Amino acid sequence: NAPNLLLNVNGIEVIYNHVALVLKGVSLQVPEGGIVAILGGNGAGKTTTLRAISNLLKGERGEVTKGMIEYRGERVEALSPSDLVRRGVVQVMEGRHCFAHLTIEENLLAGAYTRGDKGEIAANLDKVYTYFPRLKTRRTSQAAYTSGGEQQMCAIGRALMSNPNMVLLDEPSMGLAPQIVEEVFEIVKDLNAKEKVSFLLAEQNTMVALRYADFGYIVENGRIVMEGAAQDLATNEDVKEFYLGLS
Ligand code: ATP
Repeated sequence: NAPNLLLNVNGIEVIYNHVALVLKGVSLQVPEGGIVAILGGNGAGKTTTLRAISNLLKGERGEVTKGMIEYRGERVEALSPSDLVRRGVVQVMEGRHCFAHLTIEENLLAGAYTRGDKGEIAANLDKVYTYFPRLKTRRTSQAAYTSGGEQQMCAIGRALMSNPNMVLLDEPSMGLAPQIVEEVFEIVKDLNAKEKVSFLLAEQNTMVALRYADFGYIVENGRIVMEGAAQDLATNEDVKEFYLGLS
């Protein structure tokens, strides 16, 4: 393996309910320090790919039946989601899953569950607040009463509380106003540049994702149909025709 390869997914198949073959051999890589986008329409298999990596398929009655997933050169298919968090891989699920009845700060602290040290947790909380100043101003508000953008930031902030090397981000733009989408992606870019966090993000919003990612994979019907540097994909005629108009 190249020394800078963080995540290596090779030829994975995923079957739901023992019968529905949804991923038909997906391969992708995330280099250390990369921002990589998985693009494609509704139902293409983006969420399934992220869930396969973070081992969150079981609850959905899905399983990886072929292929392999390596993180830092080690097979990780058998690791539980919390083992993966301890190794530095954390997923932010689609739909901004915050605990509605908890405050923003309580939500963030819930993300520190793999860590014991109080000083470290406090330092991490401060760090999250420097990247998400909006969350600081809303720290005592119940998540249910914050905006969609603030809830998405809260979900990302909570993931950051485990001090990850790699964040799997599912549809961060979903349901957010364009200006808030930019705000969220700017923070992703900042975290990548300053904290060296790598991102693998699933997005239907191709245009925005390709502006912030360095590399992209396009998934259709459980297969990668195109891949390339984000700039190349953004100017590719097929991509423009099929995807850019849709976002
Ligand atoms: P979306 O943007 O809607 O989340 P996606 O690209 O992330 O789309 P997936 O959610 O990965 O797509 O879904 C891929 C396919 O797998 C779809 O056909 C979907 O109906 C099917 N699927 C997803 N979850 C399950 C499940 N728990 N059981 C059976 N089929 C599922």
